Amino acid sequence: MLGIGGQGIKKFCGLMDLPKPGGQTTYDALVKNIHCAASSVCENSMKSAAKEEINLTAEADNIEKPRGLTVSGYATRSKKGLFSLYGVASLIGYHSGKVLDVAVKSAYCNECESMKTKANTAEYEEWNRRHQCDVNHEGSADKMEVDAVREMFSRSQELHDVKYLNYVGDGDCKIFKDIAESNPYDESVIKRECIERVPSGKNESLDDLIWQIAPKTNFSNAKINEIAAFVATTIFNDGHRSLLDILRILNVSIGPRTHDMCVEEDVSRVSIGNVD
Ligand SMILES: [Zn+2]
Repeated sequence: MLGIGGQGIKKFCGLMDLPKPGGQTTYDALVKNIHCAASSVCENSMKSAAKEEINLTAEADNIEKPRGLTVSGYATRSKKGLFSLYGVASLIGYHSGKVLDVAVKSAYCNECESMKTKANTAEYEEWNRRHQCDVNHEGSADKMEVDAVREMFSRSQELHDVKYLNYVGDGDCKIFKDIAESNPYDESVIKRECIERVPSGKNESLDDLIWQIAPKTNFSNAKINEIAAFVATTIFNDGHRSLLDILRILNVSIGPRTHDMCVEEDVSRVSIGNVD
């Protein structure tokens, strides 16, 4: 959440004269727990966002139940040198301006990278049998967003019991072309252009949020990037107060200072948002 990774935490504890944090195993277990908590709070947040979007669409179209929603795609990538290692894509509801779904693509795996030199050894074979790889994207990095958006369209009915029937594109035809070709529903998805879009100021801050949280160090991995995307989505939709829900699931007792910090962050975020 601080964007400093395991090594950063060690340094921070040292500087603050706090006891050394646990070793790699403890760190990994912590990351796993936080991943689990962040993912469930994020899913709840996106579920209520989808309900809100359905209601707003019904209101706008003056019907009881909309046949489908209008969404816009949004994507951001982390780069290390020339390589795009991780891509985050999300779909934002047209009326609510909230994230309805998010997907993280990873073209890089720390462990694979470090075991490369040991290929064809017994140690490698043993490791390879148990390895849970971070890579969930094959092919060119340019296709990361396209694949992620297609995936989110294809799971909309399972996730929110709704179809995304209108796609608001911002000039990048590749994404829409792919959706149209993959034909996720039994009816076609329509591209809408030149209608007033979700305020771009808000999109920008989702980008900021993700890469503020995701560490920019080599210690980063797919799980950490997913946590960053889940937490950023939750804050984007519901403000910093939602971080308290994540802490609650982690069984962290919430003191008054934690609570006040979250409230203050939200107040300053709203006032920054109003300036744009
Ligand atoms: Zn791997």
